Amino acid sequence: MGAKDAGETLTLVCPHCGKSFPSAVQMDRAAFAAIRIKNMRERCSACLCASRFDKGDYFFALDEGQT
Ligand SMILES: [Zn+2]
Repeated sequence: MGAKDAGETLTLVCPHCGKSFPSAVQMDRAAFAAIRIKNMRERCSACLCASRFDKGDYFFALDEGQT
């Protein structure tokens, strides 16, 4: 309770391999709510395939216990 948003990673799910990967665009929730994202080209860190994403494809994932 009352914890900061640190440790949240803006994340995408790759349509090619189905794995989630961290977006190249990292920001906090307030900034994310304010910007527009459409046809953002990002490359999956798992299979290295580039895909286009819209804002609805992004979500915040908690990276618990990761450094
Ligand atoms: Zn992939």
